[in-house]
Amino acid sequence: MDQTLMQVLVVVALISAAYWAIMASVLELAPRAAYRIATANLLLVAGVWLTLGRQTQPDHLHFHLADWLVLAGMTLFRSGINQLVFKQHDTPWTHWLPLGLVIIFTAPLSPSAESHHAMGIVWSLAGAWIAATGFADGFKGMDADRFHLSARLAIGLPCLVVACVMLLRALLLSASALGLHGSPVEMHASEAPFFWSMLGLLLLLNYTLGMLTGTRLVMRIKDLAERDPLTNCLNRRSIEARFVLNRERCVRFGEQMTCILFDLDLFKHINDQHGHHAGDAAIKHAVHLTQGVIRNVDAMGRFGGEEFLLLLPNTHLTGARETANRIRQMLDENPLLYEGKTIAVTGSFGVAVFRADEGMDSLVKRADAAMYEAKRLGRNRVEVTETA
Ligand code: GH3
Ligand code: MG
Ligand code: MG
Repeated sequence: MDQTLMQVLVVVALISAAYWAIMASVLELAPRAAYRIATANLLLVAGVWLTLGRQTQPDHLHFHLADWLVLAGMTLFRSGINQLVFKQHDTPWTHWLPLGLVIIFTAPLSPSAESHHAMGIVWSLAGAWIAATGFADGFKGMDADRFHLSARLAIGLPCLVVACVMLLRALLLSASALGLHGSPVEMHASEAPFFWSMLGLLLLLNYTLGMLTGTRLVMRIKDLAERDPLTNCLNRRSIEARFVLNRERCVRFGEQMTCILFDLDLFKHINDQHGHHAGDAAIKHAVHLTQGVIRNVDAMGRFGGEEFLLLLPNTHLTGARETANRIRQMLDENPLLYEGKTIAVTGSFGVAVFRADEGMDSLVKRADAAMYEAKRLGRNRVEVTETA
């Protein structure tokens, strides 16, 4: 029975390792994390393989090393999660702390039935720690802004289950050590429960990481399709989609929507005097400052080179004009500091109010006319098409 389980486990781990290695080398999908996870599978199976070789007389190889290898595998699984959600390249030393403590604690113990029992408790506690922190990393890393709670839980749950099972194992072993439940000899009569939990652990960890990798890929594709690569604000197509969505709300609930169009002033001068890189930095700087002023519900899109469109749902003309003025003032008061130089970045703003049933082109056309009026009247100012 144990032999068959062991074979199943080895096959699952090897297939998983091969799957991650192919993902890293051939598909080049999250290669750093994928190599780490492939190694994690191999370490885990090596540990389990050694465990199978245990005789009634405990020895270092089949007891100490076997346990350490399984924990090392789990540590690399956690590091893979961390890499996927935080894009952290190196494994922080704190990740190796549980394994390090287990080695320090168990290395001096000479193998025997009693020390094996104590090792089981320490090992399970360390495993629970690694799994729980893996869950916390995944949960924190998938930020609440972009992921629904159920998605964060679905992906993190396997780690939490592993943590609970390991904690339970530590408690049961402690209870039996105190003579409260069974005896050490009975607990090790068969390794079947151990293999079953290892198989579960292996499948759950690979499943979690597969989901995380898929999620990361989808988010990346979504970002590429919806966002402007330089500034990370919405691209023209997405801002149009936002407009359609907001228009529905305006028409249905009688809300007001306003639009601000702004263009950075004399931008050619910035490029000519300081170079194209300084120009790019100025664009990013302007976006960063603007995002600090607008609300979460407002949408900001890059409409052209150094031209931006803001859609402010549920906002009247007065509010929109105030917002535009705040952005203008923010830009005016915060020049860009670039390679030791101070570069003034100002903008001219046009504001227009959405009229029921009009399309985006018509709205933008009026905002554009107002913006050109602002340019004509001397730049670094706000103009509106309608009166409040
Ligand atoms: P105005 O105040 O009338 O807007 O003057 P301007 O110099 O800004 O004139 P205009 O808007 O016509 O020129 C925009 C310039 O911005 C032209 C283009 O080379 C530059 N530009 C557009 N996109 C980018 C970009 O992504 N990076 C950089 N560095 N420059 C850009
Ligand atoms: Mg310009
Ligand atoms: Mg322009």
